[in-house]
Amino acid sequence: MPRESKAARRARAAAVLEGLRISYPDARTELDFGTPFQLLIATVLSAQATDVSVNAATPALFARYPTPTAMAAATPEQLEPFIRTIGLYRTKARHCVTAARALLERHGGEVPASVAELVALPGVGRKTANVVLSNAFGVPAIAVDTHVGRLARRLGFTKHTDPDKVEQDLQALYPPEDWVFLHHALILHGRRVCVARKPACSACSVAALCPSRAA
Ligand code: SF4
Repeated sequence: MPRESKAARRARAAAVLEGLRISYPDARTELDFGTPFQLLIATVLSAQATDVSVNAATPALFARYPTPTAMAAATPEQLEPFIRTIGLYRTKARHCVTAARALLERHGGEVPASVAELVALPGVGRKTANVVLSNAFGVPAIAVDTHVGRLARRLGFTKHTDPDKVEQDLQALYPPEDWVFLHHALILHGRRVCVARKPACSACSVAALCPSRAA
């Protein structure tokens, strides 16, 4: 296949986005939350777990510990019964409590709206920070999870596996106003069509634009 020019790749990327807009017009986070703090906690809980399992657990958790103040006063052991159905719940309970305490100590109980301050919180990586920034504060961001990374590679938008580099490559291809939708649409496409093991290329709305499509 001849090498694709930057302009051609940009045009193809724009066409992919239009295809995804038709397939997933309402793409948004599938995590339930009421406040930035609750989204932060839900996102921490969602690492290596399904959004469905997190959404099943968080109503009771947030009813008991709705704010950083309430959660900071708890012990990890007190949180564990609420999130026992979620993988890695002991580690996550510790992260939730220490993050709540850090929010009180460093940010007056508010969730900060910057990547640098978010990733400095216990248990918060760049992906979580980008989810919170984009969904709670409307800041343009692309959170690269396993689906976003896999699709970006299959679509020929990056060669990298490092999430930070994938994020940079996607940011270079799309204007900031498209980042949040792109992130959500790629996740949905990765869950429903372009799955890890056997992508359903025959049912893919952007197959004509994809260099990895099955023959
Ligand atoms: S054509 Fe296949 S590999 Fe390419 S995005 Fe669609 S499902 Fe994924």
